[in-house]
Amino acid sequence: MKYEINEEGFYGEFGGAFVPEKLIPNIEELKKSYKELIDTPDFQEELKDLLRDYVGRPSPLYLAKRLSEKYNTKIYLKREDLNYTGAHKINNALGMILLAKRMGKTKIIAETGAGQHGVATATVCALMNMECIVFMGATDIERQRPNVEKMKMLGASVVPVTQGTATLEDAVDVALDYWLEHPEDTFYLLGSVVGPHPYPEIVTRFQSVISEEIRKQLLEKEGRETPDHVIACVGGGSNAAGAFYHFIHSEETNLIAVEPAGKGLDTGKHAAAITMGKPGVLHGSKSYVIYDKEGNVAEPYSISAGLDYPSVGPLHAHLATEGRLQVLTATDKQALDAVFELTKLEGIIPAMESAHALAALQFTKFKPTDVVVINLSGRGDKDMETFLANRPQ
Ligand SMILES: *Cc1c(COP(=O)(O)O)cnc(C)c1O
Repeated sequence: MKYEINEEGFYGEFGGAFVPEKLIPNIEELKKSYKELIDTPDFQEELKDLLRDYVGRPSPLYLAKRLSEKYNTKIYLKREDLNYTGAHKINNALGMILLAKRMGKTKIIAETGAGQHGVATATVCALMNMECIVFMGATDIERQRPNVEKMKMLGASVVPVTQGTATLEDAVDVALDYWLEHPEDTFYLLGSVVGPHPYPEIVTRFQSVISEEIRKQLLEKEGRETPDHVIACVGGGSNAAGAFYHFIHSEETNLIAVEPAGKGLDTGKHAAAITMGKPGVLHGSKSYVIYDKEGNVAEPYSISAGLDYPSVGPLHAHLATEGRLQVLTATDKQALDAVFELTKLEGIIPAMESAHALAALQFTKFKPTDVVVINLSGRGDKDMETFLANRPQ
């Protein structure tokens, strides 16, 4: 199967586990436990119950009539914005904490950039009565006050990371170091389809509930399980992996990833890893990475903090290389236009991240008969300051 992950954790040439020797036992323990537990009825039942009663799944598949009219095609929105905590990240956090609990771990560590994954992790830790430590760049702590306060209210310790640029990239390094030093009791709850194998595989599995539901919902609404196009924004790539997963082998479905072009691809201020990056290793995994002129990992930029990552999951790197994935980019400006457009036409305020997926409508032509599913990965409450500062005149 050319799109599947192999035993060593590679999707084609991408992925793998490029970690220090000493971390390998931790990774092996995780891999083994995941394989043993994931398909047991006990695990699946607890996960299913919590996804339904705690998160509020299935999330609706909403036919956006006025948006469809405007773009003369049939547009459905997968409403991950309606999940408890406001985005898709809770799907993964919940799955992982059930894994941690069954592995007998007592302490959860996580990294966070914008704070969204930190909040999702702190939430499930409160739910499962687990100790929670969130590593966060000192710069990000300053920029994301409300999320930091939420994590603390939920009982998490937020540890400032001051090394490097004091942002997400450094927070991941510190989390990996901490895990290395506390292998017995600690579970590293990683937030996207990145990092060393088996993380990309595990996170993809927990997010794949998105496309599993889309298939069922489309069958009900359209009499067929596969759409013509699925569109998702890509930071690390977890919401996209979830939205694509059950369509990867349905070649009649076009998969579209939208990367953040920030202030413009030619300005150096972007986070478009597939479009502008080169193959390289970051955070234990081989994928596309953005480098600066000196050959260092570039400091990424996007108006949406959740897309501000200098690499991308290996699955997406592979799908793009194989020509299975169409990769587009949207600038801050195009994404902002999409925010105000969706708000006006449908009364839905999307997350700044999700708006990058919506922006694809501005520069891709779809047929009137096409069924287009856009993954609305999160809600815009957290971005109100950005919206107010950029309100159309
Ligand atoms: C974190 C986040 C993203 C980006 O992360 P992925 O792993 O690429 O999905 C996208 N949308 C929202 C709402 C987020 O919170």
